[in-house]
Amino acid sequence: MKSKTKLMHILVFMIVLSFTFSSYALAYNNENNMCGTWKSPGNIEYKFIGDTPSDYKNIFARAVVGWNDTPTKIGLSHDYTLTTANVFGIYNEEGSNMGRAFLYCKPFTSEASSGNAGLNNLWFYNYSGSKNKTNLQINTALHEIGHFIGLGHSTVPPTVMSAYGLYTDTIPLKDDINGINAMYP
Ligand SMILES: [Zn+2]
Repeated sequence: MKSKTKLMHILVFMIVLSFTFSSYALAYNNENNMCGTWKSPGNIEYKFIGDTPSDYKNIFARAVVGWNDTPTKIGLSHDYTLTTANVFGIYNEEGSNMGRAFLYCKPFTSEASSGNAGLNNLWFYNYSGSKNKTNLQINTALHEIGHFIGLGHSTVPPTVMSAYGLYTDTIPLKDDINGINAMYP
């Protein structure tokens, strides 16, 4: 499981920034990726968990368009008749996790077989900060779908795949795109 959290984000952001300036030549860090990649990245299908509210479906749809519009091989599509286990939706959990994602691979391979991406409805319900909540949700959906596609965390914020911070970008950024193109050349 990979989660996005706001804990200590300012401190971590400063540490990451200093680390970035001092030692990283490559922006995209691929050392923390998920179990593998999809065999057909241009045809990854998903459906929504049955009780996903329509406003959250719209958030996920925005994030899907965001990934699909990148100059990469990624193509996500919704299929409500899908019988495999790829699902997007929400969950309710106390604490600072804004979302979560899982990716499963075929045994003893690095080929993805199923996965899911979720937004923490309780975190967003309780959020009272000054950032645009819809954009925070889209950013988190982008982040969790990024894991579902196979990406790990980036150490070079601001990127969608940063693990820390409350970012409101509503499309994948350069480093995220570089990550996808490194995984799916
Ligand atoms: Zn994450």
